Amino acid sequence: MGNDPQSVLGMPKPAWAGEDVAMLYDMANRFLSEEIAPRYEEFEKAECFDRQSWEKAGANGLLCASIPEEYGGSGGTYAHESVIAEAIGHVGVDGFGIALHNAIVAPYILHYGSEEQKKRWLPRMATGELIGAIAMTEPGAGSDLQGVKTRAERDGNQYRINGSKTFITNGQLANLVIVVTKTDPSKGAKGTSLLVVETDEVEGFERGRNLDKIGLKSNDTSELLFNDVRVPTANLLGTDEGQGFVQLMQQLPQERLLIGAQAISMIERALALTIEYVKERKAFGQRIIDFQNTQFKLAELKTEATIGRSFYNDCVARHLEGNLDTETASMAKYWLSDLQCKVTDECLQLFGGYGYMNEYPIARMYRDARVQRIYGGTNEIMKLLISRSL
Ligand SMILES: Cc1cc2nc3c(=O)[nH]c(=O)nc-3n(C[C@H](O)[C@H](O)[C@H](O)COP(=O)(O)OP(=O)(O)OC[C@H]3O[C@@H](n4cnc5c(N)ncnc54)[C@H](O)[C@@H]3O)c2cc1C
Repeated sequence: MGNDPQSVLGMPKPAWAGEDVAMLYDMANRFLSEEIAPRYEEFEKAECFDRQSWEKAGANGLLCASIPEEYGGSGGTYAHESVIAEAIGHVGVDGFGIALHNAIVAPYILHYGSEEQKKRWLPRMATGELIGAIAMTEPGAGSDLQGVKTRAERDGNQYRINGSKTFITNGQLANLVIVVTKTDPSKGAKGTSLLVVETDEVEGFERGRNLDKIGLKSNDTSELLFNDVRVPTANLLGTDEGQGFVQLMQQLPQERLLIGAQAISMIERALALTIEYVKERKAFGQRIIDFQNTQFKLAELKTEATIGRSFYNDCVARHLEGNLDTETASMAKYWLSDLQCKVTDECLQLFGGYGYMNEYPIARMYRDARVQRIYGGTNEIMKLLISRSL
């Protein structure tokens, strides 16, 4: 199998994947295949990447691709972030958390940061010196983010932060964390503010456990504890306190689309690997692909993958025009992540017992797929958002 499994669908490239986007895809695919894939097992065992891989990704232009050049980025768009995320899925290094850093964390600073904040943080995020995380979820607040308890109290020209977060992606490595806090608990959602914590610069910040997950092993997912952590008031994102909830809502469509990118690229890889396998493996004197059940099953999956890819490409085109609404982004997140779980499950079945063995990539893809229906807003929450448009 080549390392562009999208060819399995035989579809033309969308208009948004122009020459520079296609070149970035090739570059990302090559970098990930040569530099990351050979060490991936090591990272899976360590349940964490190393900082060196991040810095190498930065040196190869894979960090902050959609951040303007004046802040150290490559001046691209979401299309560039999409193909980096897709290359990660196609090469099969799903635990490398750069897509969240690039297309979720950095945009908060770009869109809501002051000039001073952008100059302070973005260039170092583009080199990998700063690794980003976003800390929304708490032990008592997941789907219902209004229930966030982490408190930021103003004290002169500082905020004092107290609280604990859980399930935070990049949590062991991150040294720039956007923390969802309550600056005024009496105001509910309107009392929510986003504060940037540079963890190397503060006291009272602690990393809790690197959580033991069923999949995405190489991606560190952690508890984070804030014990009287003091940051300057200049670390507030936005001009005033209380804008955090609106900022989160505005950024969520892109976050959900990104999960769609991860889903469709992993679907394409699962199909490509499975088609290759069933052409080689034999039973009852014929190849597995010669059974009509295999042909029909793969015909169904290829059809659904083609529908998924068309929908994803359409969502990206809309997003690039600034027209991707919450309902459509929620449809992409929920439908594509459900499809990913279905495809990895059905493909694993076609591998027989080998599909259950960790040495076969399909086993890991099956485990890695499951969380896509949970994070970024559960698929039930997506349906809630879609149903509001009925
Ligand atoms: C690997 C991983 C990485 C993550 N990374 C991050 C991260 O980087 N940053 C971060 O902040 N968070 C992160 N999360 C947290 C993730 O976003 C939450 O787990 C998710 O939003 C669900 O919240 P919860 O776990 O508290 O579940 P709950 O909110 O307790 O939900 C439990 C169940 O109830 C359902 N439910 C809840 N409310 C409703 C409703 N109104 N209607 C119908 N059903 C409902 C849910 O769909 C779910 O099935 C991560 C989680 C995982 C597992």
